[in-house]
Amino acid sequence: MEIGFLGLGIMGKAMSMNLLKNGFKVTVWNRTLSKCDELVAHGASVGETPAEVVKKCNITIAILSDPAAALSVVFDKDGVLDQIGSGKGYIDMSTVDPETSCKISEAIALKGGHFLEAPVSGSKQPAETGQLVILAAGDKALYEEAVPAFDVLGKKPFFLGPVGNGAKMKLVINMIMGSVMNAFSEGLILAERSRLNPHSLLEVLDLGGIANPMFRGKGPEMLKDNYSPAFPLKHQQKDMRLALALGDQNAVSMPVAAAANEAFKKARSMGLGDLDFSAVFETVKLLKHSS
Ligand code: NAP
Repeated sequence: MEIGFLGLGIMGKAMSMNLLKNGFKVTVWNRTLSKCDELVAHGASVGETPAEVVKKCNITIAILSDPAAALSVVFDKDGVLDQIGSGKGYIDMSTVDPETSCKISEAIALKGGHFLEAPVSGSKQPAETGQLVILAAGDKALYEEAVPAFDVLGKKPFFLGPVGNGAKMKLVINMIMGSVMNAFSEGLILAERSRLNPHSLLEVLDLGGIANPMFRGKGPEMLKDNYSPAFPLKHQQKDMRLALALGDQNAVSMPVAAAANEAFKKARSMGLGDLDFSAVFETVKLLKHSS
């Protein structure tokens, strides 16, 4: 199967590499074209524009920063819409709001093409090892067609119904994750300032009912101030913002998520946006110092 791939950031690079390693022919494009070189060294072809990739491939996957990037790659000159049409599918795996997804879906349908949104749960390492959870919604026939690729990229694909449901599910998950990361950061500081060993806290947490891979993986790195990005903080804040908007639309009060969003915004204002989202720990440290 020949797959087009747009966006070679942390996730896109790992995912397209996985497809190549598993025997798919892959044609890649990235806004910064030089990022294609490593994929080419592993056998990928390059398209000069998103339109060129869509022209060549029956299925094109994208995973891009945010709603603005997702819209730009579809609607701008030499974008996806230039070449999408009957018999062609476009799968957007970016984390965006449902409105952005619906706008893209409608434009593609008007051209006779097929659309699936398929944001993913899981970060850099699951992307590298094909262990993502895929939250697909939209065109069921395109979903079935893409299952062989989803089986390489993830450990379980879900089909969640009409376009928008994948985006909503992803935002709910990341809203929970962002809120938990803030509570975890506060707990680490509380342990330290109460003269407990935070490493002991990690060990105790890991043996109890709230043990989870995020505490286990990120905790020791946070205690070393290592925020090498797996999930950039600027994207986590974007997800909190979009989840809060979903809360507004549904009249769901989310004071915990709102506070977590403020902490991520503060971290961005401190220049931490390109670091891992666990760098929100630095803002929590500051707040506790100032009291
Ligand atoms: P990233 O490393 O920041 O990569 C972002 C990608 O988007 C790059 O390819 C970038 O191109 C491209 N891009 C940004 N603005 C663009 C524009 N205006 N036009 C065209 N391309 C543009 O991000 P990532 O971590 O791979 O995340 C990608 C998406 O997956 C985001 O929606 C994120 O929320 C979601 N996600 C991430 C993770 C994770 O753990 N990292 C997990 C699940 C979901 P350049 O190289 O030219 O900048």
